[in-house]
Amino acid sequence: MPKLDSQIKKDTASNVVVNVVATVIATGILAGLGWLASQFPSVFTNIWRYITAPMSISRWIVWLAAGYISFSLLRGLLRWVRSVLSVPAEDWNYVEDTFDGLLWRWGPPPHGLHHLASFCPTCNTRLVVERILYFKGTLNPGTSFFCETCNRELAQLPGNLGDVKDRVGRQIERKVREQQQIRETPDNQ
Ligand SMILES: [Zn+2]
Repeated sequence: MPKLDSQIKKDTASNVVVNVVATVIATGILAGLGWLASQFPSVFTNIWRYITAPMSISRWIVWLAAGYISFSLLRGLLRWVRSVLSVPAEDWNYVEDTFDGLLWRWGPPPHGLHHLASFCPTCNTRLVVERILYFKGTLNPGTSFFCETCNRELAQLPGNLGDVKDRVGRQIERKVREQQQIRETPDNQ
């Protein structure tokens, strides 16, 4: 929509006001900075004089402070070395566990949990997984885990295979976190 002449005049007037205010503020800031800059050398000199002025102090305080600082630095260094060296080696070995009477295996980190599959704890055969429409008489689905080598069903678990895998995955993540916490607590070594 084209602007009316009066609107343009108003716009110009408010622009002028904004410009004037901005100029005043900028001038004030510059003046303040100039004053700070002029004060700076003497302020700096005074601080330097203060912190370098000699004072008498018992030797044991100096030794105590030196000891404390060395100890802290050393402890920080040790922690850093330990954290660098302990690339989660234990986690890499943690690729199988038993949940709900079934042996579960998965791919190692760092790519997260992948290739999660169930195996027979007795004969190590990968289990045949079948969907149950009505789990234990309910209207909810379940999942059956069957070993064809042992010719027996090992478990019936609630939820479809995705639900079961999600549950197992959460347990695995919990255990990994637990291990990490044990490792990261320095006094537990
Ligand atoms: Zn078996």
